[in-house]
Amino acid sequence: MIRRLLDRLLGGKRGAAPRIHARERHAMRREQLPAAARTVTGKLQEAGFKAFIVGGAVRDLLLGIAPKDFDVATDATPEQVKPLFRRAFIIGRRFRLVHVHVGNEVIEVSTFRAAQTGDDATDEHGRLLSDNVYGTQAEDALRRDFTINALYFDPATETVWDYVGGVTDIRARRLKLIGPPVTRYREDPVRMLRAVRLAAKLGLTIDARSDEPIARLAPLMQNVPPARLFDEMQKLLLSGHAVETLHSLRVHGLSRGLLPLLDVILEQPVGQRFIDAALAGTDRRVSEGKPVSPAFLFATLLWQRVLATWGEAKARGERPAPALFAAMDSVLAAQAEQLAIPRRFEATMKEIWALQPRFEQRAGARPARLLEQPRFRAAYDFLLLRAEAGEVPPALADWWTRFQQAAPEERETMLRPDEAPAKRRRGRGRRRSAGPAETPAASGPQHE
Ligand code: ATP
Ligand code: MG
Repeated sequence: MIRRLLDRLLGGKRGAAPRIHARERHAMRREQLPAAARTVTGKLQEAGFKAFIVGGAVRDLLLGIAPKDFDVATDATPEQVKPLFRRAFIIGRRFRLVHVHVGNEVIEVSTFRAAQTGDDATDEHGRLLSDNVYGTQAEDALRRDFTINALYFDPATETVWDYVGGVTDIRARRLKLIGPPVTRYREDPVRMLRAVRLAAKLGLTIDARSDEPIARLAPLMQNVPPARLFDEMQKLLLSGHAVETLHSLRVHGLSRGLLPLLDVILEQPVGQRFIDAALAGTDRRVSEGKPVSPAFLFATLLWQRVLATWGEAKARGERPAPALFAAMDSVLAAQAEQLAIPRRFEATMKEIWALQPRFEQRAGARPARLLEQPRFRAAYDFLLLRAEAGEVPPALADWWTRFQQAAPEERETMLRPDEAPAKRRRGRGRRRSAGPAETPAASGPQHE
């Protein structure tokens, strides 16, 4: 009875039939899947369950792109999945899924879920509070965000199961929300960010009806928990298409409130050039298959703010070195309210920032000691960006480039005579290197 009522309310969607695209009708093949993914779907199917590759991997392969990860969707519950594998772990409290380890790979297996309905399913802005109810495959398709993200590939038959017209949209290179756009963005405002990110990354056009409400609904981003925002921002910035995506975010009115300080930063010419250089560098590294460091990138995004706050403190007469540390803390604290940067990144960001003033000291034993800092490499890359943006003279960056490569005797000749700040406090002729042991905190250039 209730089931029938629900069926009517959902327009019969619970049991809606998919359009099944035979292998001849599309280009995805099981050989494109890692062995681990095939093992997992195979075992589930042998045990009598349904099992499909779903989401980003199907989308990417149909678009001819190499997927990042391979997720499996099944009608088996986590408790039914776990005993089928030797190394499988149920994870997540609110939403439970299974991580199956096969060789070096981890395959995420999730049970078909339905979107929650009813008055208590959303908050006062229409945001979904939970999506942890098992459902049919058809319901699982409908709760997903975009049509192209709701395709299921069955490795056994090499068929693609489509409940929402995703295959057509793939062919049209169109990104389209499933269901009424305003409702779907209200349920989860992060979908706006995902729309912009996926369109830029995949070279798709956002469907007009999905595109139109974004600018208007952008303020809803304020209600998204900071930790989730951070995850999406990180994906966005490390996608290899950060420059384009950030541009599009701004066009869509989504940059405000994401990195709350980003707009302020982008209004300053130096800041703009600095961030462009940082993002372009990251995109280049991704396209070359090199590793990229989230901490480094977040350090670049917030640097102008640190500089400004530090500058104000120095202008008030505060001592430079402690003022730099206070500035770093206050910028990170302001950021945390909107976008929770994990602690493990904060430490690295601070190290990179704290080393910057030390590049200006080119006398005595200090340069050699700076080279030995564990974070030297990241801090030096950061200095290169500052030079590229015109914040420090290019000659300074060049000096450090040469100094690193130089042989010991040559380094000796590169060192500068003792420079002004030290002389003022310490008197003529005293070697700076005879100063107290250096910690980043005690070594600002104007500190002594
Ligand atoms: P990427 O390649 O960047 O990982 P993705 O689409 O795989 O993109 P994931 O975050 O890995 O992104 O999500 C996996 C799948 O879960 C998506 O393809 C989509 O079907 C579903 N999904 C993710 N986020 C949402 C959301 N906010 N609302 C509804 N469905 C979502
Ligand atoms: Mg994914």
